[in-house]
Amino acid sequence: MPAPREAEVVRDADLSRLSTFRLPARAAELVVIEHPDQLAGLAPPASDELVLGGGSNTVFIGDFPGRVVLDRMRGLRFEETGDTVRVSAAAGENWHRLVRECLRRGLHGIENLAMIPGSVGAAPMQNIGAYGIELAECFEFLQALDRRSGEMVRLEREDCGFGYRDSRFKSADRGRFLITEVSLGLSRNFRPQTGYASLSEELARVGAVDPTPRQLTAAIMRLRRHRLPDPGRLANSGSFFKNPVLAASDAEALLAEYPALPHWPMPDGRAKLAAAWMIERLGWKGRSLGDAGVYRNHALVLVNHGRATAADLLRLIEAITDSVERHFGIRLEPEPMLVGR
Ligand SMILES: Cc1cc2nc3c(=O)[nH]c(=O)nc-3n(C[C@H](O)[C@H](O)[C@H](O)COP(=O)(O)OP(=O)(O)OC[C@H]3O[C@@H](n4cnc5c(N)ncnc54)[C@H](O)[C@@H]3O)c2cc1C
Repeated sequence: MPAPREAEVVRDADLSRLSTFRLPARAAELVVIEHPDQLAGLAPPASDELVLGGGSNTVFIGDFPGRVVLDRMRGLRFEETGDTVRVSAAAGENWHRLVRECLRRGLHGIENLAMIPGSVGAAPMQNIGAYGIELAECFEFLQALDRRSGEMVRLEREDCGFGYRDSRFKSADRGRFLITEVSLGLSRNFRPQTGYASLSEELARVGAVDPTPRQLTAAIMRLRRHRLPDPGRLANSGSFFKNPVLAASDAEALLAEYPALPHWPMPDGRAKLAAAWMIERLGWKGRSLGDAGVYRNHALVLVNHGRATAADLLRLIEAITDSVERHFGIRLEPEPMLVGR
């Protein structure tokens, strides 16, 4: 590979097109990294630093006073290790492109995560998940630049603190690691995970209860297209609130009052409740404050109808979280990172 040029640096950069929610914002400095060697020239952060991939889980609610590092590193490697194949993807690769490439090569385990927008490097941040599976299930390790020590490090699955839409990168070590590559262990044997209710219904509808990999992926993509707005047409960040996780006894008390509230058992005995159901029940679906609104087909998704300001969005978030708390006694938390002054 030819030696990389120096990383491109833009001062007073426009960020509005770099986040799929598309609120107006600027960064003092934007650095575009296309090759790991360019990281050597990246000075230690003098002030705030933020790594950005596809911007589909980052919402700028104001200008960013420091440096935004735009991760555009590319490259995929495949290593045979018996029945398992190790797939190593550079952090700036597009996640869905990786899913498609693995499908093409007959490698299985991430079909249910098809069409999740964004980059490979951001996937461990919130342990991306969909239709009953999470990244952690096939994650092996990642390589990252530790911005604290300046060293490259390798972190195994057990080092990453993965949880439901969570990891150490999103909590205790937020901003510390610049992920350069993620390695997954995928299988040549296809064992479809079809337990998620809406997925099994969709497969039954098209007569594919025992689906091929392509049928499974196609079903996931149909479901997603129907439920989620395409950020290219209607700016959004996917699910805007995390589904709340409650102790079993608290969940039972709430379910006694609201038996129709969808819920899922967690491996640790707690229960995850459907935030979308609560928001919809309180009449928010399809409503807007200013140009920020709740998507008409899915109450968990907030959208920017075109000219939303951070103030519109913050008002909407507060109104929804307050009303859910008043009614159900639960304080919802945003899923995307809200960044900026
Ligand atoms: C329509 C839609 C549907 C979605 N559906 C799902 C879904 O089903 N499941 C799900 O889990 N998520 C979903 N999301 C959220 C989002 O797609 C994922 O969180 C995705 O992983 C974000 O990738 P990104 O590159 O766009 O992240 P960004 O927004 O660019 O970054 C997200 C976070 O990761 C950090 N980061 C990014 N790259 C690096 C790196 N190389 N090193 C260190 N930190 C980094 C950023 O600093 C930021 O904190 C959806 C979003 C949209 C818009």
